[in-house]
Amino acid sequence: MIWNEKAECMSRDERMWLQSERLKKVLERVYFNCEPYRKRMQEAGVMPGDINTIEDIVKLPFTSKKDLRDYYPLGLLSSPMSEIVRVHASSGTTGKPIVVGYTRNDLSIWKEVGARCLSAYGLGKNDVVQVSYGYGLFTGGLGAHGAVETIGGTVVPMSSGNTEKQILMMHDLGVKALCCTPSYALHLAECIERSGIPRSEFQLKVGIFGAEPWTEEMRREIEQRLGIKAFDIYGLTEIMGPGVGYECNLQHGTHLNEDHFYPEIINPETGEHVKPGEKGELVFTTLTKEGMPLIRFRTRDLTYLNYDKCECGRTLVRMAKIMGRTDDMLIIRGVNVFPSQIESVILETAEFEPHFFITVDRVNNTDTFEIKVEVKEQYYTDDINGMIKLQKLLAHKIQSVVGLQPTIRLVEPRSLQRSEGKEKRVLDKRVFNN
Ligand code: ADP
Ligand code: ZN
Repeated sequence: MIWNEKAECMSRDERMWLQSERLKKVLERVYFNCEPYRKRMQEAGVMPGDINTIEDIVKLPFTSKKDLRDYYPLGLLSSPMSEIVRVHASSGTTGKPIVVGYTRNDLSIWKEVGARCLSAYGLGKNDVVQVSYGYGLFTGGLGAHGAVETIGGTVVPMSSGNTEKQILMMHDLGVKALCCTPSYALHLAECIERSGIPRSEFQLKVGIFGAEPWTEEMRREIEQRLGIKAFDIYGLTEIMGPGVGYECNLQHGTHLNEDHFYPEIINPETGEHVKPGEKGELVFTTLTKEGMPLIRFRTRDLTYLNYDKCECGRTLVRMAKIMGRTDDMLIIRGVNVFPSQIESVILETAEFEPHFFITVDRVNNTDTFEIKVEVKEQYYTDDINGMIKLQKLLAHKIQSVVGLQPTIRLVEPRSLQRSEGKEKRVLDKRVFNN
């Protein structure tokens, strides 16, 4: 199902024309209404009139997370406060959170792009959708909520937490689609298994998962445990919230709503565009936002883009699954390690649960790299030799993927903490030691 065929399937030429027109308009807006942007452009020697097509975007300076922190809370607004009808804030893993403001029109565009996502997942007005992203400052809950209402579906505004009640509502209300983080979906799956309620009593068919990186292996695990088809939804507070991108039924990449959010991929070190199809840092320009438009915002998310037309009929560019953020990457003894690589290996190995925790430290000037991982019930034994064999198996597999041997600590099933929102899987103690 396609929600907005014109926008989602228009020819690339037509879309580029639209993007160019919108870019010119948004530049006028920020230049004349947001002093920090005006200054920044003046410093770079570029005026709105110097930009004629979307390809001229490279002349514009980047915006970083630091800029948003420096102008905390709402110094980057391009609309007067009287036009701002809502604020949200990012979870802010470090330091000050980032606050953003939306006009009424921004909210309606958010709902429009959210509706595109849900339609692509095959959902419509006869479907009950449970939103188990947190409600509040986090964009997940209210963002997904608005999207469900827009397609005319029935929204169950659960928010996060209270897992028993989540399961009760899902069961009793015949929920067809669940929206939450992939890690919480996994936790729900585990709790449903333990509740003893047969899966056949649930109507759940569709998973809408995002807000954190998740691998294909994780997708298969959740799909199998919940008996559903799991779709990716991508978004970030600075740009809008969930709905910036979504997977169609073919699941060959996440379509980006590029008529509203213009993507580029840059080399994070040089800031230059990478070659088409090459991996790098994702950068977005909001083309239609009024409250807090951002120009060339560096997301720190690592991915690559595919501009081929998708067989689903959409011409919207597709983004590969986010492999992590530049700031998620651990450098251990000089080797780059992404938590997503560890996730893939653990999920591919039958003996382990998909729950792990990485600790990195520095002892005697050497980095230590430890992974705690849950062993599946049927493999967890008192037989020390058996356990050592498992440890070696995993250490070896991880070494072959990341090129570094971790210390593996096997733990009992269900002993690691579960998360209700974004999963925290890494503790880097070196950050505090320096
Ligand atoms: P914070 O940056 O504090 O986590 P957000 O809630 O705005 O704040 O999170 C946005 C980030 O979450 C994205 O930049 C990306 O790193 C991650 N994210 C969101 N959706 C997905 C997804 N579908 N796949 C991978 N990562 C995602
Ligand atoms: Zn498609």
